[in-house]
Amino acid sequence: MEQDDWKERYKSLSDQMDELQTQFEDQPLQHLLCQMTVALDGQSAQLDHALNLLCTQLKNNQPGSPKVIQLVEKQLRGLDIEQQQQQEALLLGLRKWIYQLRLNLTAEAADQRLKGIEGEMTPFSGQLAVIAKVVNELVELQGPLLADDFNQGHHHAALDGIAQEDEALLQKIGSELLSLIAGLNIPPGDMSLARELVSRIEEGVTLNGLSSIVQDLVGLVSRFNAYNGAEFENYLQNLTGHLVEVQAYVKAGQTDELAADEVVLLTNGIQKDVQSIQTVMQESNDLQQLKSHVSSQLLNIVKSVDLFKEKEERREQRLYERYLQLQRRFEQMEEQTHQMKVHIESERHKALTDSLTSLPNRAGYDEQLHAEFERWKRYGQPFSLAVADLDLFKRINDTYGHQAGDKVLRLIANILTKQSRSTDFVARYGGEEFVILMPGTTAKQAMIAVDKVRQAVAQSPFNFHGDPVQITLSLGLTEVQPEDAIDSLFNRADKALYEAKRLGRNRIELG
Ligand code: GH3
Ligand code: MG
Ligand code: MG
Repeated sequence: MEQDDWKERYKSLSDQMDELQTQFEDQPLQHLLCQMTVALDGQSAQLDHALNLLCTQLKNNQPGSPKVIQLVEKQLRGLDIEQQQQQEALLLGLRKWIYQLRLNLTAEAADQRLKGIEGEMTPFSGQLAVIAKVVNELVELQGPLLADDFNQGHHHAALDGIAQEDEALLQKIGSELLSLIAGLNIPPGDMSLARELVSRIEEGVTLNGLSSIVQDLVGLVSRFNAYNGAEFENYLQNLTGHLVEVQAYVKAGQTDELAADEVVLLTNGIQKDVQSIQTVMQESNDLQQLKSHVSSQLLNIVKSVDLFKEKEERREQRLYERYLQLQRRFEQMEEQTHQMKVHIESERHKALTDSLTSLPNRAGYDEQLHAEFERWKRYGQPFSLAVADLDLFKRINDTYGHQAGDKVLRLIANILTKQSRSTDFVARYGGEEFVILMPGTTAKQAMIAVDKVRQAVAQSPFNFHGDPVQITLSLGLTEVQPEDAIDSLFNRADKALYEAKRLGRNRIELG
């Protein structure tokens, strides 16, 4: 029984094999298979290759070799995966599109249509017919959102506009580049390079040519920077030179040691900073590093100068205060000196003046006589001396009192002053005695002058308690003589006075 089954099954399988063999060898099947390979052509290079191999074998009436069939199977599986991925990407793209349209189309009807489209896409078969329908519907919905001119068929004009914009942009870039070059201080050696670049830009900047123009411009600018670096270095060297000069000048001219020290500190500091800038400029190729170093050194310099200024201002303030203080002291001293002078002068005046009559006193007379005597000795200028003594003055005192006597002395002093010439010198010698020094006057001339005085006194009306009283004076007169000393001169006049008394008073005797 079992054996029969096996036989049965073997027979059935064998029939099936034969049938398959027949089918396989059938030409229309081969033809169909080849057509399918054509339909699949272009999906993937490997699949194309595998299908070509299979097709060739079938055309040559060979059964497909297992190797080739395996290869086709593998590629078909791969194609399936790829298609699935593409379908997913397509689905995602369509959903995004719907999403964006929904954001822009607010009408209820549009929303309903979008929902309908979404329904058609679910589940997503990926069939081209479905995709085409969906895309068409979406395009239709999107229509109103597009610009009017686009809808009116001005598509080309819009494209032209974009091209014109590009052209305008390139022109603008060109003119910017030209003004950049114009703004550079190009060293003479690089002039031809700059000119060549300018004419290239003027010919018109194209998108393709732009990069090479910019590259050349960068080259030019970097050369220009290097040149300027040298310039800057020169400038710094000059600056250092100036600072050294300033330092030397300040050293020579500055009398204030403190300030000179501060200036030396400042200039040394600045020189160090400047040298450090120069060193970095010579060694560094890194523009950024160079910039930050130069900035920080310049900041140092500015700080030092500010600090110096501050110190200098404080110092000046202190000096100014000291100056004011000194000025005040000076003014005080000046005032004190003035007061002292006045005081001395007044003391001297007091010392040389008689308080009762305000005439020069004996000391005053002595001083004057000395001066007169010196003048005579030096220039030979003659002078005369009269000694006057009130007559019987004791009686006035005794009769009318001492105060009346004082009053008489003051009145007599007035008369003597008024009656003598302005060049004459009248003094109270002591008690009731006066002296008259007459410069440039001989005894003969003096006699006339002195007699006028005597007469004036004698004629002055004095009244004491209603009684008229005559006051007179006697005088001894003498002229300086070649052999005279100060004492001998006075003694001679005094002797003459004594003689006048003896001869009756109210008279003048020549000695
Ligand atoms: P003779 O003519 O001889 O000079 O007489 P006489 O009285 O003037 O001389 P005497 O020498 O005897 O007297 C001087 C007097 O002058 C004495 C004194 O009282 C007076 N006498 C001197 N000095 C002053 C003074 O300062 N004030 C007053 N009131 N009298 C004075
Ligand atoms: Mg006397
Ligand atoms: Mg007298």
